[in-house]
Amino acid sequence: MVKIEVLSETEERMKLLLKETDRSFMNALRRTLLSEVPKMAIDSVRFQLGTKEQDDETWETTGPIPDEMVAQRLAMVPIPTKFDRFHFQNLCPNCANLVEDDRGCLECQMIYTCVVFGTEEGTWVTAGDLKYLGEESLEIGDEYKKIPITKLMKGQMIEFYATAVMGRGKDHVKWSPVCGLSFNPRKKAILKNKSKAKILWDMNLTITSKDFGKEKILEDVEKVTKLIEEMNHVGAGTEESREFNDAIVLEEFPGEFILSFETDGSMSTRVAFTKAIEELKKKFDLLNEDFAAVL
Ligand SMILES: [Zn+2]
Repeated sequence: MVKIEVLSETEERMKLLLKETDRSFMNALRRTLLSEVPKMAIDSVRFQLGTKEQDDETWETTGPIPDEMVAQRLAMVPIPTKFDRFHFQNLCPNCANLVEDDRGCLECQMIYTCVVFGTEEGTWVTAGDLKYLGEESLEIGDEYKKIPITKLMKGQMIEFYATAVMGRGKDHVKWSPVCGLSFNPRKKAILKNKSKAKILWDMNLTITSKDFGKEKILEDVEKVTKLIEEMNHVGAGTEESREFNDAIVLEEFPGEFILSFETDGSMSTRVAFTKAIEELKKKFDLLNEDFAAVL
């Protein structure tokens, strides 16, 4: 049974230690996080076209970048994803039986509107200008409101309705909630040659010989990560590497891996990870059923 330990966790960044597992499981988990965890993302945008008379001025719906590009940028804005409120359109209790074009209700789509007028000095249209039609809690998160969409000068305006739906990263990257995703085998550092390792300690970096203790082994995950970085000063290609000559060596812990990832802000790291486990479990259950049927 895989054992999981949380090494560090914030809303957007998470680092986990997984024990009693192997590379293939870690890779399955990585791929599931990237391409199977559902997420809300803007999938269609209806631009209002024409001119508007306002304040004795004429405003036209043009801008410096084409509508297609605006739509593409909107698709990448992190839309807050609430799994207890929204369904996939093909599984929506209200819409599942309708033809595809007729689908879309309060439980399977989120609609944002946006109207912005340009100014003499230029006005940025940002993710913060997207207004959710409904509850305020589903507005774009404060820290993402500054994401730029386009810029408008005097006489230019933009007006659109953008609809977000649930999807998966395997269909389009806009539905992928994670980024900066990697896993590495957990390592320990062994002090082999005390006098030669002094070359590293004399550089006054973070890790010192004291961290290795009596056993001359360093196992703390954060400290080992730091040490690996610092060993670049004495690693291959440096003048010091000749003398340092493997005074400290790194060894892998069998079956232990460190997984780290970030989310785009559409959901917390914990939600994304829990969902990935759920999705993976579903796949294995299906596989089990298939095996049971044929064996
Ligand atoms: Zn629906």
